[in-house]
Amino acid sequence: MAMADGDARNTLPYDGPYPRLAAFVERGLLPNRGAQDSKKDANEIVKWWVRFVVWGGPFLIALLTQSFSPWLWFKMHFFLTIGVNLALHRFYSHQSFKTSRVFAFVLAVWGWLGGHRSPLFWAGVHKKHHYYCETPLDPHSPIKGFEYSHYLWLLDPEVMKLHWGWVPRTLKQRPELLILELFGAFAYFTTPSLVSYLCGGGWTPFITAWCAICTHLNVEGAVNSLCHLPCLQSSEKPCKAIDSYILGFFTGGDGFHAKHHDSARCARHAPATCLDMVYMVICALEKLGIVWDVAHPSAESKN
Ligand SMILES: [Zn+2]
Ligand SMILES: [Zn+2]
Repeated sequence: MAMADGDARNTLPYDGPYPRLAAFVERGLLPNRGAQDSKKDANEIVKWWVRFVVWGGPFLIALLTQSFSPWLWFKMHFFLTIGVNLALHRFYSHQSFKTSRVFAFVLAVWGWLGGHRSPLFWAGVHKKHHYYCETPLDPHSPIKGFEYSHYLWLLDPEVMKLHWGWVPRTLKQRPELLILELFGAFAYFTTPSLVSYLCGGGWTPFITAWCAICTHLNVEGAVNSLCHLPCLQSSEKPCKAIDSYILGFFTGGDGFHAKHHDSARCARHAPATCLDMVYMVICALEKLGIVWDVAHPSAESKN
C-alpha cells in the first residue's frame, strides 16, 4: 500500500553525517535487496514465515515435538516486550527519559532482540503513526484492514523503507544505530539461538523462544489493531485509541493506549492504579542513576 501522500518527509534523503554508511544500510546486506525481480520470491517465503509465526506456528511445533518450557516462555515474552516498549517506544520514540549514549545503545540492542529492527526504523514509523493517527496515512491503521494493522504492515515494502524525514535528527547522527539497522532481521535468528545457548543448548529453549516471539509480536500488533479498532471506539477525539487492561498487562503497560496518545511523552502509560512494568523498570533505572529527567506523570507533557 503506497504512501503517496505528498508529505515531503516520506522522500527526504538521509541528511546526517554518515551518508556512505546510510547508503549501505539502505542497500542492505542481502544481495539485490530492492530489485523487483529477485525480491518477489524471497518476499513470499518471508510472508509465509511471518504468517506462520504470528498465527501460532511455533506453538504447533512445540506441541508436536513436546519441546516447550512455560516458565522460559513467560520470562522471554516479557523480556522481549519490555525491551521493545522501554527502548524503542518510550525512550527512542518519545524521549520519556534521558540516559548515557552507552546505555542508549544497550537499550537499542535490547529492543532489536525483539525483531523490530533498529530505533531508526521504529521511531520513524511511530512518529508517523502519532502524527497521522487513524487516517489513511497512518502506517498501520485498521482502516487498511485488521490483519494489515496487526502485522501485515511489517511486510509492506513501502512502509518498511527507512523514511529519513521521520527519523529524529539525533538518531541519524549515531553510527551505532545505522549499523544495528543493517542487521535488522538477524534478530530473529539471534534471539532464539542466544536463548538456546544460554540455556545450555537444545531445541526446547530454541522453540520456546520462537513461541515468545509469537506472543510478543501479537501483543505488540494488538496495540496497533485492537486499540485502534473503530468498532471498539467511542471517543470523539481525532485519535480514538482505547485502553485495554489485558493488553496493558501483556505489553508491560503499553496497552493503555488512549492515555498514551493523550500524553505521548509520559513515562507511565498505565493509570496509577494499574501495573506498568515498563515504568517500574524506568523508575528502578532512575534510582540507580542510569536514567534521568524521567517524564513522570506529574511532569508529563505532550509531544
Ligand atoms: Zn496508537
Ligand atoms: Zn507512542
